Amino acid sequence: MKDPALWLRTICISNGLAVSDKQLDILSKYVHLLLEWNTKINLISRRDVDNVWTSHILHSISPLFELRLIPQPSVLDLGCGGGLPGVPLKILNPDMQMTLLDATRKKITAVQDILEKLGLEGVDTVSGRAEDMARIDSYRGRYHYVVVRAVASLADLAKWSRSFLRGTTELLPEKPKVGFVAMPPALIALKGGDVQKEVNEARNIAGLQSVSVVTMKFKGSERLLENDKKIIVIQF
Ligand code: SAH
Repeated sequence: MKDPALWLRTICISNGLAVSDKQLDILSKYVHLLLEWNTKINLISRRDVDNVWTSHILHSISPLFELRLIPQPSVLDLGCGGGLPGVPLKILNPDMQMTLLDATRKKITAVQDILEKLGLEGVDTVSGRAEDMARIDSYRGRYHYVVVRAVASLADLAKWSRSFLRGTTELLPEKPKVGFVAMPPALIALKGGDVQKEVNEARNIAGLQSVSVVTMKFKGSERLLENDKKIIVIQF
């Protein structure tokens, strides 16, 4: 891959997502800062460093290709680590209002430094455990979507997410009828491997409206290294 940023832009365009030079530049800076911080604290697996554009950036933004989201959503990245998937999602979909949450303070310190250097607006950070934060009034019912990658079982995530979430009266803009319609309140979980057992567990939780498994099939998704990646959408 000669220029991974241009490669990513080509994938975005072939899936109908325009990306400006500025966005691409910010995304490249993010990758650079993530890798720099990764030499000090463990944000992404060392064996993934060479594949950062595919296994981390492309994977993180996959919901933009597979799902239809409401405009200007308020989003919580639960267990963001070094800012994945929240930061790439925010860069490519700037009208998201994004909160990045992680239980590990030093990871949040790294993310704050990265965000400051990127100059992104409309994004804030908080360190704490999701199950504790969910009890704080100012976080309750604040988000349309919780996005998450590699943090906990779907059953735990569903339990923790519920109180962060709220619905909307907003309608989705008229678009070609492609993509899974993810109406809030919804948890969007990026998962790999065999998800059936977890999905069944989540389906047994009382009070959920639906648990849907969206298989990645956007143009370029075959480039994700482990190709049985799924997006699980839990609607409340
Ligand atoms: N989402 C990131 C990080 C995954 S590692 C990525 O995909 O790269 C899992 C992260 O979840 C860790 O940073 C850990 O600190 C955080 N985490 C685990 N349990 C948590 C909880 N209960 N509340 C908040 N963060 C949690």
